[in-house]
Amino acid sequence: MKFATKAIHAGVHPDESTGAIMTPIYQTSTYVQDGVGNHKGYEYSRTLNPTRHALEKNIAAIENGNFGACFGSGLAAIDCVIKMLNPGDEVISTNDLYGGSYRLFKTIFEKYGIKFHFVDMQNPVGVEAHVNEHTKLIWVETPTNPMMNIIDIEAMAAIAKKAGALLCVDNTFATPYLQNPLDLGADIVMHSVTKYLGGHSDVVMGALVCNDEELAKEMYRIQNSTGAVTAPMDSFLVLRGIKTLHLRVQRHCENGEKLANFLVNHPKIEKVYWPGFPTHPNHDVARKQMRGFGGMISFTMKGNRLEDALEVVKKVEIFALAESLGGVESLIGHPATMTHASIPKEVREKTGVVDSLIRLSVGVEDADDLIADLTKALG
Ligand SMILES: *Cc1c(COP(=O)(O)O)cnc(C)c1O
Repeated sequence: MKFATKAIHAGVHPDESTGAIMTPIYQTSTYVQDGVGNHKGYEYSRTLNPTRHALEKNIAAIENGNFGACFGSGLAAIDCVIKMLNPGDEVISTNDLYGGSYRLFKTIFEKYGIKFHFVDMQNPVGVEAHVNEHTKLIWVETPTNPMMNIIDIEAMAAIAKKAGALLCVDNTFATPYLQNPLDLGADIVMHSVTKYLGGHSDVVMGALVCNDEELAKEMYRIQNSTGAVTAPMDSFLVLRGIKTLHLRVQRHCENGEKLANFLVNHPKIEKVYWPGFPTHPNHDVARKQMRGFGGMISFTMKGNRLEDALEVVKKVEIFALAESLGGVESLIGHPATMTHASIPKEVREKTGVVDSLIRLSVGVEDADDLIADLTKALG
């Protein structure tokens, strides 16, 4: 089955007792058993719930994986992956990554004896230099947030394989419609479902997908043991959201391209970060592993003044000033003071998160209106 068909049909089927075409919201904590150990596959909703189960199968299918697990947030999904490790293990992570992932690694897991190396992964040689016998996980985010660097997933898979380590890819920005890390050699793919998969800015959720049965057992064991699961109502909303993922992402890509081209020609803009430009340093890798370039764009302003950036994010009217991304509505953000405020200034500036950097999550509105909005805000 191809993507659009899977997005709509995988994991779901008409309700057997009523014929309801939509998966019911099984708002229940427990399930009556016919006798001890004699149940219909569901015992307790932390372990498994039918609405969540349908969604887990659906997300696994659109990522070309066998096993899916949904969590209460993207960070809870990441937490599950790191809990597969032991004290003394080492992780090599993308340096330019989601601020919350950095905070989880540094302030929660380091004190349990797991060591993290934050590395510029655009050059695979630099990654290999950090591999040693303790390396157990390579953590990749691509496109990176907010600098839109592209990391070669196949090259990272080769390094992970040689090191005997797992490769996990945070595929939140690309979405499974544009990129499938498992097909490129990753062991686990992670999503902040909150973003494009949910797509309507109404749910916080995370997901993991993998192919290996042993790995899946461990994933489900941790999911059930730690209990950071997602709710039936939220699972229902995301099942609905994913039915239009392909349509939405097509428009995100079209609008993203129009806005990137508008910005690159604007006299007040210094630099535009968008992987669709042939001049983007990793454009070839993006072409190789992605089917489109998405609607996430970052840019800096000439002079690199904090006041200028704050003025733009304040003046826009259609773009909403907010954290998050991937919804139908366009959002604008200021990484240095918002999403990346938890990363020390000298660390963030090294990766390009300077004071005038602005990040756009281009929605699916009319592109002309979005361009007019930015034109006015830039003055
Ligand atoms: C938002 C985000 C996360 C964290 O997900 P939550 O659902 O907010 O917990 C992780 N990675 C990326 C790339 C994100 O954008």
